[in-house]
Amino acid sequence: MLTVHTLDLNFLENEEAIASYLVETSNGPFLIETGPFSTFKNLEQQLSKHGYTPKDIQHVFITHIHLDHAGAAWKFAEYGAKVYLHPFGERHMADPSKLMASAKMIYKEDMDRLWGDMKSIPADLLHATDHEEIITIGEVEVKAWHTPGHANHHIAWQVGENLFTGDVAGVKIENGPVVAPCPPPDINLEKWQVSIDLIRKISPSKLYLTHFGAVSDIESHLIALEKDLYDTAELIKGYIDQELSLPEMEELFINHVDSALRALNLTEEMLKQYDAANPPFMSVAGLLRYWQKKLN
Ligand SMILES: [Zn+2]
Repeated sequence: MLTVHTLDLNFLENEEAIASYLVETSNGPFLIETGPFSTFKNLEQQLSKHGYTPKDIQHVFITHIHLDHAGAAWKFAEYGAKVYLHPFGERHMADPSKLMASAKMIYKEDMDRLWGDMKSIPADLLHATDHEEIITIGEVEVKAWHTPGHANHHIAWQVGENLFTGDVAGVKIENGPVVAPCPPPDINLEKWQVSIDLIRKISPSKLYLTHFGAVSDIESHLIALEKDLYDTAELIKGYIDQELSLPEMEELFINHVDSALRALNLTEEMLKQYDAANPPFMSVAGLLRYWQKKLN
């Protein structure tokens, strides 16, 4: 019987904003997602609740290389862990300087507080995983499903009836709405739709979202995700048609998201959780880039 432990990384003091998942096998535990390095201490604490230290984790699966998902993978590699990821993410984990430089352009002096450091992972510890490849750890099989749309280097990991969806199945916190996180540079609605349809075909009994937790009512979750994805894309398209500047678009969209969430009676605390898990300004830049590529 497979047990999945949800580890809450308490990102920026927010509960249920970023998860890491611990799976135990007869051949030791493994992690799916590491969160950013800024929450590594919290992850260490969460592991110790289950009787483990970071050294015990010899296999780490990351859904994609964004810092909130993979930012602490290098630390496990320092302890000898193998890191499984999409082939397109490999060179950035081997040499994160480009990844960190582009994050610094966005977050500037906030880099450390948000994400912390990121170091190189030696090539022999990186395992670029093919679509439908199966990795076996103890008695547990982990299957890779390449699922682009949110990012070209995205994998959803299937373990038994469970699918760990990173960001491709969107964000949903507690009883809040399903939202589609759309940061630059890879957002692609057509690819994302193919990935959502693939999730339907895999037909898992549970999704595990990195932001945040397990979802059992999968079809209504995916329908809500599609609606948010297309509605948000159309909204940004409308801003482009009005020839608004990027700061104008950001302001409008941030207000739009805020009032939409407030209309659902979300608490102040939940507004903060959503903002930490999926900052709206990123989706403006991501969808703007999508439309520019598509329309030009
Ligand atoms: Zn994310």
